[in-house]
Amino acid sequence: MVRYVYDFHEGGRDMAGLLGGKGANLAEMTRLGLPVPPGFVISTEACRTFLTTGAEPDRLAREISRHLTGLETAAGRLLGQPGNPLLLSVRSGARFSMPGMMETVLDIGLNDESVLGLAKVSGNERFAWDSYRRLVQMFGSTVMGVDSALFEQAMDLLKESRGVTDDLHLDAGDFAELVDQYKNLIADETGDTFPQSPAEQLRRAVLAVFASWNGERARLYRRREHIPDDLGTAVTVQRMVFGNLGHDSGSGVAFTRDPATGRPGLYGDYLADAQGEDVVAGIRNTVPLAELERLDPTSYGRLRDHMETLERHYRDLCDIEFTIERGTLWMLQTRVGKRTAEAAFAIAAELTDEGILTPDEALARVSGNQLARLMFPRFDASATGDALAHGLPASPGAAVGAAVFDSAEAVRRAAAGEKAVLVRQETAPDDLPGMIAAQAVLTSRGGRTSHAAVVARGMGKVCVCGAEELTVDTDARRFTTRDGTVVEEGTVISVDGSAGAVYAGAAPLVDSAVIRHLETGERGEQSARVVDAVARALQQADDVRRLEVRANADTPEDAARARRFGAQGIGLCRTEHMFLGERRKLVEEMILADTDAARERALDALLPLQRQDFTGILEAMDGLPVTIRLLDPPLHEFLPNRTDLAVRIATAEAQGAAPDPHDTELLAAVSRMHEENPMLGLRGVRLGLVIPGLVAMQVRAIAEAVVERTRAGGHPEAEIMVPLVGAVEELRIEREVVEHVLALVAEETGVPVHCPVGTMIELPRAALTAGHIAEEAEFFSFGTNDLTQTTWGFSRDDVEAAFFSAYLDKGIFAASPFETLDRAGVGRLVGIAVAEGRAARPDLKIGVCGEHGGDPDSVHFFHSAGLDYVSCSPFRVPVARLEAGRAAL
Ligand code: ADP
Ligand code: MG
Ligand code: MG
Repeated sequence: MVRYVYDFHEGGRDMAGLLGGKGANLAEMTRLGLPVPPGFVISTEACRTFLTTGAEPDRLAREISRHLTGLETAAGRLLGQPGNPLLLSVRSGARFSMPGMMETVLDIGLNDESVLGLAKVSGNERFAWDSYRRLVQMFGSTVMGVDSALFEQAMDLLKESRGVTDDLHLDAGDFAELVDQYKNLIADETGDTFPQSPAEQLRRAVLAVFASWNGERARLYRRREHIPDDLGTAVTVQRMVFGNLGHDSGSGVAFTRDPATGRPGLYGDYLADAQGEDVVAGIRNTVPLAELERLDPTSYGRLRDHMETLERHYRDLCDIEFTIERGTLWMLQTRVGKRTAEAAFAIAAELTDEGILTPDEALARVSGNQLARLMFPRFDASATGDALAHGLPASPGAAVGAAVFDSAEAVRRAAAGEKAVLVRQETAPDDLPGMIAAQAVLTSRGGRTSHAAVVARGMGKVCVCGAEELTVDTDARRFTTRDGTVVEEGTVISVDGSAGAVYAGAAPLVDSAVIRHLETGERGEQSARVVDAVARALQQADDVRRLEVRANADTPEDAARARRFGAQGIGLCRTEHMFLGERRKLVEEMILADTDAARERALDALLPLQRQDFTGILEAMDGLPVTIRLLDPPLHEFLPNRTDLAVRIATAEAQGAAPDPHDTELLAAVSRMHEENPMLGLRGVRLGLVIPGLVAMQVRAIAEAVVERTRAGGHPEAEIMVPLVGAVEELRIEREVVEHVLALVAEETGVPVHCPVGTMIELPRAALTAGHIAEEAEFFSFGTNDLTQTTWGFSRDDVEAAFFSAYLDKGIFAASPFETLDRAGVGRLVGIAVAEGRAARPDLKIGVCGEHGGDPDSVHFFHSAGLDYVSCSPFRVPVARLEAGRAAL
C-alpha cells in the first residue's frame, strides 16, 4: 500500500527522491541525535498525485492527521490550542535543491485567540504578535496569492508613521495593527478571509507548497538547471522554534568550511532576535558567526560540535540553517553545500589528507567544468562597473584590450606588443590571425557555436558572441551600445567570457594560477593550495583512466603547450591553416593552374613549406603519435570572396580603368567553383580524388619530415588521416596514392617510413559501413562536429542563432548537440562504427577529434563506448584528463 507521510524518525538521507533533500536530511540529522524540532514529511509521491489529478490523494488527510496527533502528544499541546498553541512550519523541498524557488509558511496555528495564549505563555506579547503578522503575510502571499509587495508597503508605511527604520523598534501594538491591515488587504485583494482554523491553515499550506512546484520561478530554475519537471516537491511539517524571542534568540546560516576557498573553519552569518527568513531577506545586517561565539558561547560550542558531526558524517562540506530559542540551539536544515571551483578542489584534497576520502572518492568530487573555470583569468567581480553590453558567454575567462575592428589591426597591435580585442559582427575563417593575436573576440551576432565561439573556445581565447545590443560599424571602426555610447577603435574595453559581459576600460584581472602551474611548474605562494589540489586530482585521474588524451594542434607551439598540459599525442593536425597567409598566393596558383606543369610548379613551391610545418610538429611531439589530416575544406575557401572581387572589378570599370586581369581570372575561377552547399560539396577525400597531385604533395611533405626527424635522431610517429570518407572505395583509391608516395620517399632516402593510414568517421554512411571501411583503415577518428551536422541535418553556422534557443526552451534537447554529444542519435552511430570496425579489424585504434573530445559529458560517453582516446584543443586537455579519470571510477 502506498504511504504518503513519514516521520523524521523513519527517513534518512538516501530517501531524497521521496522526502526531498530537505526532508531526507532532517531525518538524517534526527537519526544522528542532533537537536531537530520534531516533524514529518509528506512525500513527493503525494505531490505528483496532486499535480496530475488536481486532488489530494485519498488517505492523505488521514495520514497527516495521524502524524499530527503524534506531534501534539509529544508536545503536550494541540495545533493552535488557544491557551498554549503548538505552531508548525510547512516547508517545501525537492529531490534537487532549488533554493528559494518554492514556498514555505511559518507559524501555522496562530489566530486571533491563540496569539493571546502565545503571548501569555511566552511572556512576550511583542513576539506573539510579530509571529502572527508573519503568518498572515506568508499565508496571504503564498497560499492566497496576494502580491507580497503590498504587505511590505503596509509595513513600510507603519514604520514611517512611527519614525523607525528597523522592525526591532516596532512593538506589540504595532504588530497587532499590522495584522489587522494585512487581514483587510487579503479581504480586499481576494474577497476571502484569512482562515482562523489551524487545521484549515495547515491543509491549505500543504496544497500551496505542492502547487509551488509549478510556480513560474521554479519552472524557470528547473529548465536552467536541467531538473526534470515531473519530480514534484515533498512537504516538511515541523514544530516551530523561535528565533524572534528576544536577544537570547536568533537565526543563522553556516558552512562547515568557507565555500569560496574551501578553507576549514566555521563560516556563516547570524541575526539576533529574528526568524530564519530574515537572515537571507537582508532586512537587517547580519553579524559574522564569530560574533555568536561572544554573544552565546554555549550555543556556539554546540553548533561547532554538530557541524563537525555533520561534516564527518556526510564526508563533505555541509551548509546548515539553525535557530537559537532562548539559549537552546536547534538545527533546521543541512545539505552538502554548493561551492566554488577552487573550494571543490581544495576540499577534496584536504578531506583526503584527513583520511576521510580515498583518492578515487576525491576525484569524483571535482569536475572538468570546475577545472575549466580555474584555467581562465578572471575579473575581480567586486571591481567592475556597469556593463556596456551583454552577450553569450561563449568562451570563459577575462580579457582586456583595445577594441579593433579587423584582423589585420589586431595582428599589427599584437606585433607592437599591444593588447587588442577583436570586435566583429561575426567572424570568418579569414579572421583567424586576428583572433590568435587578440586577447578576446567580441561579436554582435551568432550563437555559442558560431565560428567565433568555436574557434575561441578551441584556442582557450575569451569570447562573448551574439551581443546584439551592439551595433558594430566595421568601416567606421567603432561600435555603438544601446544607450548610444560610441566606442572608437583603440578604446580599451574588458570582456568577461564567463559572464558574457563587456565593460568600458580595464577591469582588474586575477590570473589563473592553475595555467601558470601547468605551463611552468610554478605554484605561486597564495595559490599553492589550489594548484596542488588540482595537480593531485589530475594525477589520480591519470592513474585510473583508460582513455588516452590527445590534442588538436596545428603548430609546434600549440603542440608543445598541449604536451605540457599532458597530451599524449596529437589527434588532429589540420593542414588547412598551413595554406593561409603568405602561402595563399601559391595555393591560388595551384587552384588556377590550367596546365599540369603550372600546377606542379605551385605544388613544388608548397612542398618545402609543408615539410617544415610537419617537421616542427613532429619534433614538438617526438615519440608520440601525430595524426595529420589531409586537406579538408573546399578550395574556394582559399580564394578571395566573390562579391569583393566583383566590386573591385566594377569599381575599376566605373572609373574608366581596365580591371586587373588577375582579378578577372580569379572571379571566373571563383564563380566556376561556387557551391550552394560547400559543407556537402567538393571537400575532404573528394578533393584528393579529383585534384591531381595535392594528396601526393601533402604525403610527400609528411614522409620527408619523418625522414628528416629520423635522421636527426628523433622518433617521429606520423599518422595520415583521410577526411570525409563515405565509402570504402574512396579510401582504397586514396590510400593507394598515399602508400605509393610513402614507399617512394623511403626508397629515395633509404629511411623506412611507416605511417598508419586511417580515416575520419564523420558521415552516417561511414559509420554504417564501418566494417568495410575498416578493411582499408588502420584507425578511425570520429569527427563528431560533421557527424552531428550530417546526422541531424543541421548546418552549424545557420541553426544556432536561428532556433537553438527555442529548441532548448521546448526541451527538444537539454544542451546543444554541438556542445554535448547526442547519445541517442550520433552516439548510436558511434556505437555501430566501433562494434563493426573492431569486428573487421580487432586492433583498430579508435579516437574522437571533434569539439566533443573536451566536453565532460561526452568524454564519459566515449569512455563507455570503448574508444581508445579523445582529442581536444590544448586548453581542454587537462579537463579531458580529469573527466576520463572520473569516467573510469
Ligand atoms: P528555503 O528552502 O527557502 O530555505 P525553508 O523551508 O528552509 O525554505 O524555510 C526558510 C526558513 O524558515 C528556514 O531557514 C528557517 O530559518 C525557517 N524555518 C523553517 N522551519 C522552521 C521551524 N520549524 N522553526 C523555526 N524556523 C523555521
Ligand atoms: Mg532553507
Ligand atoms: Mg570534419
